[in-house]
Amino acid sequence: MSTSKTTETQNTGPASNVPENANEHCPGPESTGAGRAAGCEGCPNQEICSTQASGPDPDLSIISERLRNIRHKILILSGKGGVGKSTFTTQLAFALSSDETVDVGVVDIDICGPSVPKIMGCEREEIHRSSNGWSPVYVQDNLAVMSIGFMLPDEESAVIWRGPKKNGMIKQFLKDVDWSTGDGGALDYLLFDTPPGTSDEHLSVVQMLRDSGITGAVIVTTPQEVALQDVRKEIDFCRKAKVPIIGVVENMSGFVCPSCHGESQIFYPTTGGAKALCEELRLPLLGTIPLDPRIGRACDQGTPFLDAHADSPAAHALIGIISKIKSLVNN
Ligand code: ADP
Repeated sequence: MSTSKTTETQNTGPASNVPENANEHCPGPESTGAGRAAGCEGCPNQEICSTQASGPDPDLSIISERLRNIRHKILILSGKGGVGKSTFTTQLAFALSSDETVDVGVVDIDICGPSVPKIMGCEREEIHRSSNGWSPVYVQDNLAVMSIGFMLPDEESAVIWRGPKKNGMIKQFLKDVDWSTGDGGALDYLLFDTPPGTSDEHLSVVQMLRDSGITGAVIVTTPQEVALQDVRKEIDFCRKAKVPIIGVVENMSGFVCPSCHGESQIFYPTTGGAKALCEELRLPLLGTIPLDPRIGRACDQGTPFLDAHADSPAAHALIGIISKIKSLVNN
């Protein structure tokens, strides 16, 4: 997969890659009929699609200019909450930035549950504004974080925002944050931790990033069918929105008891788990990560799991997945 932009924007007619089994007559979020076609009636994304379709947004060119030189923009998606999407995003960021020559940024747009600052050990930090825009929080010299969590008055504040306000905040993140590196260069990777599901935030991000190019999406799931059902929707969304899928990660996949070393499936893959799903939909399965209570502990302490438990099966799995992602996006 290359760093190149996503395929050209389609301006007319139905999206050619809408799957035949799509249960709604979605014309595709980029079509001229988006938000106004008969199939859009009752769709939760109708408002944002029709707003977008009514004319080009001048902010998009500012966003595109800001992000154009960032080599890889990767969305981390999940069908459901609690499957380990933020955990995976942050461990991927820590691992990529362990190479001092690689500059990494994380944008936490999980507006209702921004957990990235906690997991990356920077929740008490504040963001500052300079003449170039908002400066992200630096966890390391080559690892920067921007999260809605930094803007909340306190940890317990609930953010109850309706669509336009959420989209405005996401746009501000993309438009105003200065991601330039210390030497005035550009990031190698910008990872987007998104909310679960396929809400209008996803559509906003995709539309806002389109001109500067999305490298692709990594989809995180757990093995049971209840989670996989929502992954299918996520995959359908990516295909309709023309976001390349880098691959699927199955998290919480089995558990080895530290005392008796017996292996068990806490979340049983009744329908074959992510492996069967990837075979069926012809997607790369990037790997499976077992449950390991030390992952939860490292996240709560804001420390990189890979540093502390490099020899564990979960660390080996993570390292394998990360190296696959690196080779897929750099080839
Ligand atoms: P999401 O972003 O999908 O909502 P999180 O990344 O916040 O999910 O993870 C939910 C919880 O599960 C967190 O407490 C996290 O530490 C824990 N967790 C994630 N992956 C694992 C794993 N493989 N083993 C043990 N705990 C995990």
